[in-house]
Amino acid sequence: MVQVHLDLSEPQQHLVAVQIQVAPRLARLRLALPGWTPGSYLIRDYVRLLEGLVVEQDGRVLELQRLEPSAWVVACDPSGGLLTIRYRVLATELTVRTCHLDHEHGFLALAAVVLELEGERWSPYQLSCTLPKGWQAFLPLPVSNGVWEARNLDHLLDSPVEAGPHQPLHFAVHGVPHQLVCWAGGPGDERWLLERQPQLLDDLRRVCEACCRLMGVERPAADNYLVILHLVDEGYGGLEHDDSTVLVYGRRNLEKPNGYRRFLQLVAHEYLHQWNVRRLRPAELTPIDYHRPPVVPSLWFAEGVTSYLDQFLPLTAGLSEPEDLFLDLAEDLSRYRLTPGRAVQSLRESSQEAWVKLYKADAYSADAQVSYYLKGAVVALCLDLHLRRSGGSLMQVLRQLWLSHGRWGRGYSEADLVESFATQAPDLATQLPRWLNELDDPDLDGYLSSVGLFLDAEMASTPWAGLTPRLEAGGLTAARVVRGGPAEQAGVMVGDELVALDQQRLKTQDDLQRALRANQPQTLLIARRSQLRRLELRPQSPQVERYSLKCVVEATDEQLDAQQRWLLQQPARLG
Ligand SMILES: [Zn+2]
Repeated sequence: MVQVHLDLSEPQQHLVAVQIQVAPRLARLRLALPGWTPGSYLIRDYVRLLEGLVVEQDGRVLELQRLEPSAWVVACDPSGGLLTIRYRVLATELTVRTCHLDHEHGFLALAAVVLELEGERWSPYQLSCTLPKGWQAFLPLPVSNGVWEARNLDHLLDSPVEAGPHQPLHFAVHGVPHQLVCWAGGPGDERWLLERQPQLLDDLRRVCEACCRLMGVERPAADNYLVILHLVDEGYGGLEHDDSTVLVYGRRNLEKPNGYRRFLQLVAHEYLHQWNVRRLRPAELTPIDYHRPPVVPSLWFAEGVTSYLDQFLPLTAGLSEPEDLFLDLAEDLSRYRLTPGRAVQSLRESSQEAWVKLYKADAYSADAQVSYYLKGAVVALCLDLHLRRSGGSLMQVLRQLWLSHGRWGRGYSEADLVESFATQAPDLATQLPRWLNELDDPDLDGYLSSVGLFLDAEMASTPWAGLTPRLEAGGLTAARVVRGGPAEQAGVMVGDELVALDQQRLKTQDDLQRALRANQPQTLLIARRSQLRRLELRPQSPQVERYSLKCVVEATDEQLDAQQRWLLQQPARLG
C-alpha cells in the first residue's frame, strides 16, 4: 500500500505539497516523475515544476542521487520504518493535462504530481487531500472517509482531481451514475450552468446513450463516470480517462447553436474513448511507459475513427439535424483537401510522429504534415462507406475489436486492425495498408456518391498569393507562407512584416486582399530584421477556398436508402 497526501491549502502560492509514504522493499529505491500523460502525446518534462524533494526514514533525511533529470535513487533500510517522500509541485498551467491551483479551484493531472516508485507500480494506492475551507475534491475513484483508493499506479494516474467550492450535478446513463463538475472561472458564470441544468443533463445523457448504442453495449464501460468541465473565455480540448474526462470549452461558444453542438460532440468524443483507446488500446500503450515516448502507428484509429464517429452522435441522439452533420463533415473534408502536407506525410507516419510533429506544430506544419485526427477521420469515412457496400460498417468493426481485444484488456497491433477490417471486406487487406502507408488519396468522390453526396468547391473572391497575413502590434506580418506558392517564390518568409503592395500601405488583412492582382507582377515591400526589401510577387488566379457537402440532385432510391442508414449509423442493407 502506498499512501499519497496532497495539500492544496495554500492556493495563493499555486503550490501543491505532496507527501508519499511507502514501506521500503529493498535497500535502494528509484523514484521518477512521469514525463507525459496518456492521451496527450508530448513529453512535457513535468519535473521542471517539482521542487524541494526530501526523503526521510525514521527521522533521518536520506541522501538522494539524481540519475536523470526526472529520476533519483535513494539508499534506505528495508527493515526500518516507512519512507516519507515530500516535495512541492507548482500548479499554474490551465490545460487538461497540467496542474492549476488558485483561490477559485484546483485541477491536478496526477502524472504531473505523483512519483513512480520502483516496485510499486501494481501496489494499491490511497489518496487523501487537505483543502481550503469550503472546498470539496472530485475524483473518479472509490472513496470512503475522505480516502480515495486506486488499484495501482495506472489507476491513480488515470484519475484527474478537480477541487473547489463546486456544486456537482448528477445524471445516469443506463442506471450508471454520472457526475458533472464544472469550474466556470467565477461565481457569476456558474449561473449559466444552473439555468440550463435540466436540459444540459438530459442532452448529456442522450449523447452518452447514443455512444453505448454505437458500441452495441447495454451500459457504459465505467461503473461510475466523472465529467470535469472547465469553462474558459476561449478554448477547446479534452482528455480521455477510463472512468472520467476533462473538458475545456469556450463559454461564449456555448451560447451559439453550432458551439453547443460542438460541445456535445466533444463530450461524445471523450465518452467514446472510454472504449476506443482507453480499454480498446494499441499494444504499444499496453502497459504505458510514462518515461519514454512509445511509437504508436495506429493512433489514426484511436483518434481518427473517434473524431469521425463523434460527429454522428448528436444526430443519432436526436439533438441535431443531418444538415448540421453535412456542415461538420464538409469542414473536415475542406481542411483535409486544403492541407498540402497530406502529399508529404502518410497517415502511419503522422501517427508515429505525433510526439514531435502534431504536438509541436508551427507555421510550416501544414506544408509538411497532416493530422492523424483529420486524415484519420477522412480514412474512417472512406472505410465506413467502403464496408457499407458489402453490408458492413465501421461501427461493426469497432464492436468486433471491442469483443476480441478491448473487453479483455488485450492490446491490438496494426495487423489486428487490418485483419478486423478484412474480415468484413477482404479487399481491405491490401487497400487499407495502402491508405496508411502511401500518399494517394482514397476515392473520396466515389465514396460520397454512394450515399448521394458530392463535394462542391467554392472559389475565393480574391487572387491567390499563398500568404496568410496576421495583424500584430507591430503591423501586418506573414503568419504562413505556402510551400511553392507565389509568396514563397517571391521570397517572403514567415515573420516578415508586410509593409506595402504596389506602393499601397498595408495596415489590415483586407488591405492586402484588395491590392492583389492575378497573373501580373506586383511590388511587395517587406521588412525583415529591421531592413526593408523589395520583392516581386506574382499572385495567381483565385483558388478553392472551401468545399461544401451537397446532395446529388437526382439521387437513386438506393443512394438515398444508403444515406439514411449511414446518417443514423444503422447497419447497411445488403444489396
Ligand atoms: Zn480523442
